[in-house]
Amino acid sequence: MRNILITGASRGIGAACAREFASHGDRVFLNYNNSKSAAEKIAAETGAIPVKADVSNFEEVNRMRKIIGGCGRLDILVNNAGISQTKMFTDITESDWDNMFNVNVKGMYLVTRAFVDDMIAAKSGKIINVSSMWGVTGGSCEVHYSAAKAAVIGFTKALAKELGPSGINVNCVAPGVIDTDMNAHLSSDDLEALKNETPFMRIGKSEDVAKTVFFLASRNADFITGQIVNVDGGMVI
Ligand code: NAD
Repeated sequence: MRNILITGASRGIGAACAREFASHGDRVFLNYNNSKSAAEKIAAETGAIPVKADVSNFEEVNRMRKIIGGCGRLDILVNNAGISQTKMFTDITESDWDNMFNVNVKGMYLVTRAFVDDMIAAKSGKIINVSSMWGVTGGSCEVHYSAAKAAVIGFTKALAKELGPSGINVNCVAPGVIDTDMNAHLSSDDLEALKNETPFMRIGKSEDVAKTVFFLASRNADFITGQIVNVDGGMVI
């Protein structure tokens, strides 16, 4: 049985990843920050183990590492926790900027740092980070989000080079528009326009991303590292 940690897994793409891995018999550690009851609901449904930690908080991440470490070595880490915000560049405050980077970039760094020593010692492991198509192309009115998600891509490529000799794969998915709470603020007209811009003419589902993450975590992806896999229905080609 593989041990998997998925951050930010109380809903959306993270929850879909938890369901996908659990349905294949993996032991899933389901990280959440504030949404205890939502996390417990998914845990009850899937058999996953909920673990609380704010990924941007060093102490909480290390507490999570100790809890998970008590159950054995982590085989797969999915850095999914993230926040987004739509604002004109000139309206972004210093605290908006810091929050964006604290969760999306520092969180990924802290959680990876906490678990990577064991992977290096075992000379095996797979890390999958969740970026965004806006990290690839840049999105208007989302400069801080685009910059943070581009940092996720740089982190992925650099760490893949460094950890390749240790037998660890580091890859990244770049979702397009996915139907989750993160996009709940979009109007139906906005969603329709985005759908029409997508070659597959639909908004993505969390499961579309989860299945790609599952593939990147599988033995079928053993010779794939440092890659950014767009899961966006052809939006970015
Ligand atoms: P979501 O808002 O439903 O899920 C994000 C999850 O991250 C939530 O469970 C939230 O509680 C958790 N989280 C936020 N801050 C956290 C923290 N400090 N510590 C621990 N958990 C924290 O959105 P989603 O669409 O499921 O997003 C998942 C990932 O996919 C994010 O990284 C997001 O940027 C990325 N993404 C989403 C889309 C999309 O269209 N929905 C597109 C591209 C990329």
